[in-house]
Amino acid sequence: MRVYFKEITVRTQRRRELLDITHEVERAVAESGISNGLCLVFAPHATAAIIANEHERGLMNDILRKLGEDYPEDGKWEHNLIDDNAAAHLASAFVGSARLFPVKEGRLVRGTWQNIFLVELDGPRAVRRVVVEVVGV
Ligand code: ZN
Repeated sequence: MRVYFKEITVRTQRRRELLDITHEVERAVAESGISNGLCLVFAPHATAAIIANEHERGLMNDILRKLGEDYPEDGKWEHNLIDDNAAAHLASAFVGSARLFPVKEGRLVRGTWQNIFLVELDGPRAVRRVVVEVVGV
């Protein structure tokens, strides 16, 4: 079994936004040389998340709107008393900071309408890291 580890860095521009990192993740899978196994995509941040869904502008706006409805920034959150970003932590906690994909015959397996996104929840940030770890044979 082999393990390939890569860290991708991205810059975010807005308070909340979706960044399509599909190409970077697929490049890491190709670089790994691993044919069959699993690819973990993990954001080592408490105020970001990883999702897989369609890269369609309207839907991307809908996802951000839904996050805003579920985790309103002006909610009466206790964490806002010490750090004004409780909504970002909550969205990260419940959306999740990682997604796992199969790797088959050297390629990441995903649906046609499943691009991979970093979800920025507390931007803009000069550096957001995404860990891609490919494990297999
Ligand atoms: Zn905080």
